Amino acid sequence: MPMNTDTVNSSSSQLDSLFNPSLVAAQQPNWPGGHDGEQMKRAVADLRALPPLVFAGECDDLKAKIADAAAGRAFWLQGGDCAETFNSATADSIRNRIKTILQMAAVLQYYSSLPVIKVGRMAGQFAKPRSNDLETRGDVTLPAYRGDAVNDIEFTEAARTPDPSRLVRVYNTSAATLNLVRAFTRGGFADLRQVHEWNKGFIRDSQFGEKYEQMANEIGRALSFMQSAGVDPEQFKAVDFYASHEALIIEYEKALTRIDSRTQLPYDVSGHFIWIGERTRQLDGAHVDFASKVRNPIGIKLGPKSTVEDALALIAKLNPDNEPGRITFITRMGAGTIRQALPALVEGVTKSGAQVLWVCDPMHGNTFESKNGYKTRNFEDVLDEVRGFFEVHKKLGTHPGGIHIELTGDDVTECLGGGNQISEKDLESRYETACDPRLNHSQSLELSFLVAEMLRDR
Ligand code: PEP
Ligand code: MN
Repeated sequence: MPMNTDTVNSSSSQLDSLFNPSLVAAQQPNWPGGHDGEQMKRAVADLRALPPLVFAGECDDLKAKIADAAAGRAFWLQGGDCAETFNSATADSIRNRIKTILQMAAVLQYYSSLPVIKVGRMAGQFAKPRSNDLETRGDVTLPAYRGDAVNDIEFTEAARTPDPSRLVRVYNTSAATLNLVRAFTRGGFADLRQVHEWNKGFIRDSQFGEKYEQMANEIGRALSFMQSAGVDPEQFKAVDFYASHEALIIEYEKALTRIDSRTQLPYDVSGHFIWIGERTRQLDGAHVDFASKVRNPIGIKLGPKSTVEDALALIAKLNPDNEPGRITFITRMGAGTIRQALPALVEGVTKSGAQVLWVCDPMHGNTFESKNGYKTRNFEDVLDEVRGFFEVHKKLGTHPGGIHIELTGDDVTECLGGGNQISEKDLESRYETACDPRLNHSQSLELSFLVAEMLRDR
């Protein structure tokens, strides 16, 4: 991540009148005392006094890269937990996630010959929208778990009561996570040659190694060739790695909005890239109003029922000046639906002249409950949605700009299939997610090899 220390001034009165307080924010917890109760006021005051987690200049750098990707000159890789937890913000867990994303990026980059923009669903992804406000077990009904930003997953009244002071812990955990991210991606750990060694190790140790060995050998030869020619660019040694999360808890995001001292413009300094979920993208809602006021690059999830009119109205509201790199549409249609639902959207937006980055989230349209009661996804469905995404873009002559994946660097058993053929029975052994099922390390890498082939043939 590039380091610069522009930004910020949190006391500006400009901020107080920036957002429209009368708009409804969907998917907010029932905070004790309401969203303007004493506890929330204290949390917001604490957050407003804290330094930025990311810098406005970094957000602008990312926006420029997104503009390149939207124009077909880069590929986007975004991945991480569905829901981060305070307990899993350990050095090992963070390192394994970064490592997984870097390994995937190396494979994708080699086969596409495009720069890969590396983005973690990380250092801020602590809040979840839920279909039901309440959860019932037996004859006990309690508030649903909405992520560590809001309450605790344990099923007791005390644990499930929303607690605004958790928002300050979100900030602190995100700061600690970002500190490691910056160290890992600047300090030699991310060296491309090192990443290639990891990929070779993965192939050696996995049962389905041979299939990918040839691909890895090719990358190895390219690296040796450059080494023999004395090429040793700085870009091999460090990478830009960006932090992203769903901007869901509106008080948190507003409290971390600052005026950039360079430009006098507002930025949400809780993460480089923030997105609005499928359930909170109402045109007249508080989330869209919020995103329209900050200058970060913005993602918007689009589900199978989204229309061209929805997409164009969101563009008009969020990017009236057609700023390059501002808008990323993250489509999550489902493997069985994408080939029917995506073409009209891409065609309509392209015809309007708007330049957006199209990213495929092959996770959220492919969730189901296994016979033994686990929320899961099939690796084959995930892969098939990405395949459909590439097919649609190929037909329309548009750029399949990237993928958005729920993953972890650990050997969990949460999604079915993949080379190691995780079965329904296997889900019982390491099902650790706090929310949606994630691809494990090996499934993630396997996906990257398969997507790399699609990128080569695009
Ligand atoms: C998510 O990304 O975890 C999520 C809830 O997605 P969506 O808004 O697409 O349902
Ligand atoms: Mn999810």
